[in-house]
Parts: sequence; C-alpha cells; structure tokens
Amino acid sequence: MSRVYNFSAGPAVLPEDVLKEAAAEMLDYRGTGMSVMEMSHRSKAYDTIIKEAESDLRDLLHIPDNYKVLFLQGGASQQFAMVPMNLMKNKVADYILTGQWAKKAYQEGSIYGKANAIASSADKTFSYIPDCSDLPVSEDADYVYICENNTIYGTKYWTLPDTKGKLLVADQSSCFLSEPVDVTKYGLIFAGAQKNVGPAGTVIVIVREDLVTEDVLPGTPTMLRYKTHADAESLYNTPPTYGIYMCGKVFKWLKARGGLAAMKEYNEKKAEILYDFLDASQLFKGTVVKKDRSLMNVPFVTGDEELDALFVKESKAAGFENLKGHRTVGGMRASIYNAMPAEGVEKLVEFMADFEKKHRK
Ligand code: PMP
Repeated sequence: MSRVYNFSAGPAVLPEDVLKEAAAEMLDYRGTGMSVMEMSHRSKAYDTIIKEAESDLRDLLHIPDNYKVLFLQGGASQQFAMVPMNLMKNKVADYILTGQWAKKAYQEGSIYGKANAIASSADKTFSYIPDCSDLPVSEDADYVYICENNTIYGTKYWTLPDTKGKLLVADQSSCFLSEPVDVTKYGLIFAGAQKNVGPAGTVIVIVREDLVTEDVLPGTPTMLRYKTHADAESLYNTPPTYGIYMCGKVFKWLKARGGLAAMKEYNEKKAEILYDFLDASQLFKGTVVKKDRSLMNVPFVTGDEELDALFVKESKAAGFENLKGHRTVGGMRASIYNAMPAEGVEKLVEFMADFEKKHRK
C-alpha cells in the first residue's frame, strides 16, 4: 500500500491514525459484532459515539452552554438556504462577497428576502478580503454573512467584520478547527466536514440557543428547521451516522495533539514553508494579498498556462495529488488542512524547487 500526498480542497486528507483506527473497528465496533455503518442510530453504542463527538467538539472550541451543536446533512450548501429560512425574520440580510461560496450563499439568500452585497472583492478576482471596519450594514439586517476562509481563492478573514451589533453568520467549512475561535462572536457557524474533520455528507452547525426558534419563514420544511434538530439532539431522523463517528475520531485526534492552539501553530509552520518558497521563487507566484492569506488553501501560478498544466502533470506522477486549481480559476492550489503533515509540504517545496530549476527562463 502506498499513500500519496493529497492536496485536495475537499474531500481531503484525514489523519492516518484515524483512518487506521476506523479500519480496525470496521467489522466489529468494540465488541458489538457490527460496523458503526450497520448500527442503529438509536442504539446505546451509537448514543455514546454522538454524545462524545459533541462533548469533544465543545471542549475543542470552548463552546458555551448557550450554543447548540447540530450534526446535519446536506453539505455546507444546504446551510445557504437553512440560514435565511431560520434567521431572516425581517427578510433582510447583508452578505460580504469574497468568492464563489459567499456568492452562492448570497444568491440563495435572495430567494427568501432582500440580500444585500455590502462589500466585495470581485474587482480583483477575490484575491483579498475587503476592508470590513466600517461596513454599510443595513439597519434592519437579520445578520451579516461571511465565508471565513475562501477555499477556491485562498483568502481568510484575520479580523472579523464589524457588524455594528448585527448577528455574524460564518461559513467556516475550510478553516474549521484549524485554529482557536471565539464562538461568542458569532450567532451561527457552520462547516461541511469534508475538509478538516471527516467524510462528506456531514455538516456541523453551532448556533446560539436564542436563534433556534419556531419563528421561521413560512413553508420551511421540518427537516430544514434548526429547532427540529436541536430538540432531538441531532437524532430527529437517521443522521449521517458513520460521518459523525469519523468526525468524533478526528476531534479526539485534535485533542490528543494539544487542541486548536497547537494546531494553529502547526498550520502556521506548514503554510510558512510554502509561502516563503513562493515569495522567493522566480517562477511560482502566490495569487493572494499577503495579509489575507489562508493557512489552509494556497493558490499559486507560474503565469504560463502550459507550464501550469505541466507542473500539475509532473507533480501527480511524483505522488502529489490534486494540485490543480479550481476549475473556475486554473493554476494550482495546495490545500494543506490539519491532517497534511509538514513533511508533505516540505516535499512539495523540494519538488517545486526542482521544477523551477528546469523551467526558469
Ligand atoms: N463553503 C465552502 C467554503 C466550501 O469550500 C464548500 C465546498 N468546497 C462549500 C461551502 C460547499 O460545500 P458542500 O459541497 O458540502 O455543499
């Protein structure tokens, strides 16, 4: 068996120890004689799995008691609709457009009410985060929405926007659990699991208790109400049982590694290896304004499309997978989530340096 260095933006690399543990438990989960995949979500064994997952997540993020943790389905994209359906009481919300995922959320929001784009970085291909210190926040806005880490463009908010007292809603899909977060600054955080925490199909929502009410937009289906899932502790219907089990294992892995502060330090170290190389390179160039660079997704180009394609081809042959940039932007992108070892980034940089020697004009 040989594993590649997988730089995919998601579904993405998971910790090898977690995968090995899951493999060992595949046929007989701790004496139950069955796989977690085959287990009733109402069983005692599963109840322990989901409760421990929630409690470990609460420990990692220091989630206060007045926030609910929900394990849902439908991916992060489902939240683009659930957020307005549940929170748009005045039918007004402000969105900051920093890339495709924010734009999709904004478009979805405008189905349900007045969605305002109050800032955008579209003018420079989303290569920076707009100044959010004095935003034209709408007086009657129900929330201000951000995509905190932009998976495709590789930007990250290092300072949260001043929402002028309005609720902050954040899509943290591609930076979830990569660093400590002050949950109290948000009304709602959501994250698709398939980048930093587990298999696709699970989405995690952390929402302030007072926002979970029956006062939702008319016609909101039962399954799309936060209250349905909060009341049933994420067991209203059959949840994505195996996905939650895997997320739970990743939470334990993170705790064993020293939690989110330690993770952030490690992620900074990894990203620095790559950014330092890019800054010194005569061939490769990072595409993001330095102060807004993501620690998770690192897009870069050579400036020559043919050379980019050659790099992707040769890197793949050398065991570095999924370095091709998003289909809408081209170039390259290295996603270096929590589970990507520093060694993977070091090897990538060595490979890039060799490629540069051969191809610098
Ligand atoms: N938000 C962000 C920041 C993402 O990166 C993605 C997926 N790459 C999504 C939302 C959509 O997630 P899903 O495919 O789970 O709906």
